[in-house]
Amino acid sequence: MTELNLILLGPPGAGKGTQAERLVSDFGLPYYATGDILRAAVKEESELGQEARAYMDRGDLVPDDLICRVVVERVDSPEARDGFLLDGFPRTIPQADTLAEALENLDRRLTATLLIDVSDEEVIRRLSGRRVCKEKGHTYHLIFDPPKNEGFCDQDGSPLVQRDDDREETVRHRLKVFHDQTKPLIEHYEKRGLLRRFDGSRSPDEVHGHIRATLATLRLEEEL
Ligand SMILES: [Zn+2]
Repeated sequence: MTELNLILLGPPGAGKGTQAERLVSDFGLPYYATGDILRAAVKEESELGQEARAYMDRGDLVPDDLICRVVVERVDSPEARDGFLLDGFPRTIPQADTLAEALENLDRRLTATLLIDVSDEEVIRRLSGRRVCKEKGHTYHLIFDPPKNEGFCDQDGSPLVQRDDDREETVRHRLKVFHDQTKPLIEHYEKRGLLRRFDGSRSPDEVHGHIRATLATLRLEEEL
């Protein structure tokens, strides 16, 4: 079978999680979100996990080189034999190079980098409209999924609040960080003919359909 070795890129609010979930079930690929991998390694108390834990316990950032090794260990595991879906890694060109090198050593290579493109204004509209109830965290959206009684949860009547993460100024800052970080990566993969763009302003079903069709084509091309 042809491998699908994939990277998923997109701004906050682009629906990456939703698309990842569907791709995982379409193609049976393991999904590796960097934060989750680190947590899993720590929990399993693997050698790398213990190393990572030492940094986390001190409140330090886990160094780049260690993150790379944790990711490579996953990619090289039996469950990722037919491919994988990476999210949150690589974040930098050196990390991208480390990944390419590690794959080459395994006699494999990256199939594609999938970019879910959404304009900043659309991201702000999506995220800044989110509200959660104070009591149980039920979620609403002022435009897409408003509560029956403005400002209160339909299920328990508790007040709805906006999370700090979803405030417009916070979202703008997160977007700036995302663009600063991701632009070089996008150019890097574009130059290598590995970038595939998807219009994330479409519905989740449409985006999913486009990604699926693209991956099916990539697979056919590989098999020829
Ligand atoms: Zn509620």
